[in-house]
Amino acid sequence: MFDSIVVGGGPAGSSAAYHLARQGCSVLILEKATFPRDKPCTGALSPLVAQWFDFDFAPIIAQRVRRVRYTWKLGDPVASELQTQEPIWLVKRDAFDQFLINHAIAKGAVFQDGTPVIKVEFAEGCWQVHTPQAVFEGRYLIAADGAEGPLSQWLGLKMPKVRPAAVFAIPAERSPHDPTLNFEFGLLKNGCLWSFPYDSERLMGAVTFLGSGEPDYPAAFKSYAAGFDLNGSAGQLSPHLVKLWDGNRSLHTRQAVIVGEAAAIVDPLSAEGIRHGMYSGVEAAKAIHAALQGQDEALAAYTTTMHQWGDNMQWAQRIAGVFFRFPGIGYRVGIKRPTMTKRMGQLLAGEIEYSDVASRVIKRLSTGLLPGRK
Ligand SMILES: Cc1cc2nc3c(=O)[nH]c(=O)nc-3n(C[C@H](O)[C@H](O)[C@H](O)COP(=O)(O)OP(=O)(O)OC[C@H]3O[C@@H](n4cnc5c(N)ncnc54)[C@H](O)[C@@H]3O)c2cc1C
Repeated sequence: MFDSIVVGGGPAGSSAAYHLARQGCSVLILEKATFPRDKPCTGALSPLVAQWFDFDFAPIIAQRVRRVRYTWKLGDPVASELQTQEPIWLVKRDAFDQFLINHAIAKGAVFQDGTPVIKVEFAEGCWQVHTPQAVFEGRYLIAADGAEGPLSQWLGLKMPKVRPAAVFAIPAERSPHDPTLNFEFGLLKNGCLWSFPYDSERLMGAVTFLGSGEPDYPAAFKSYAAGFDLNGSAGQLSPHLVKLWDGNRSLHTRQAVIVGEAAAIVDPLSAEGIRHGMYSGVEAAKAIHAALQGQDEALAAYTTTMHQWGDNMQWAQRIAGVFFRFPGIGYRVGIKRPTMTKRMGQLLAGEIEYSDVASRVIKRLSTGLLPGRK
């Protein structure tokens, strides 16, 4: 019997497994895909994650980027530099996720990929985790199966709705002198597009933050690609669901917790989920380690910790609600402000929180709605 079984080997699951294994707990990670696997994701990562780990992330950083450029319907550009100490990292998800798994394995975690979990049941004080090949037993269960996994439903945990999103990978030579994070706000209704440069391709992402229905992502990407003088028909579209945070809810049940995007631990204003998922994995490991030591309330404390994170995200959600309803005004009175990139950098670096800026931002956006006001 394992102390803990983690379902899903993405950043949230591997972070939890790493921290449990390094504290001497026996951990099994079950992953349905064969690693290294790709995950539709554009791979922008806050360097803040380094604080939770005792190893160096340098080998896995594809590049560091400071320059940010915004556009409205491919025009009216605004460019700016992040003022933070460390730039934003770009990581390729196939390599990054394998890198984290390797570190968990080095600490003693057992990783079994190509192994989908098809059923879980609680019996005789432990979790029986069924796969097509075998049934594994764990005292504790960590559901880390991402936006499209079944565990939240199986565990009876209430979850927010999923939204359609997509990544578009298009072959492109990266200019070594101009690594820039690009964001486009006018081409996609209720959402935005972004585009990050990698060595031999450009990864574009798209998410709608409001409304329902499936946007015409292929058409939006094609137009966006043309803005970079790229031929959209050479690109590859990967649709994926996204679970944006939309309210605090219980993230634990009997001897089980849910982490990462499976738990909708994703910023509802930016769709940033890697860093937040890793944080939830680190906190889940602390909770399960404490529970294994006999602390009865440890899993409830995990939910409380993530609710504190959610209290901050409610401000992100409020900003998104105003901004994406009236993005033209948001672009004019918000994005184009010189302080905007500074604040975004500070948010990504953890120097400030949404709650520190939300009231001012919402007031500014609302004032912009008044006729004649700028
Ligand atoms: C279009 C798009 C672009 C994005 N870009 C960014 C970005 O630039 N930066 C950022 O921070 N975030 C980004 N995100 C969000 C980010 O990709 C996710 O939030 C993050 O991957 C969540 O990590 P996770 O470990 O929770 O889940 P995942 O990385 O999704 O991992 C879950 C794992 O569980 C496995 N699994 C599922 N079901 C089972 C099962 N039954 N049995 C076993 N294994 C199972 C899956 O195969 C998968 O490997 C983006 C999301 C989208 C949709």
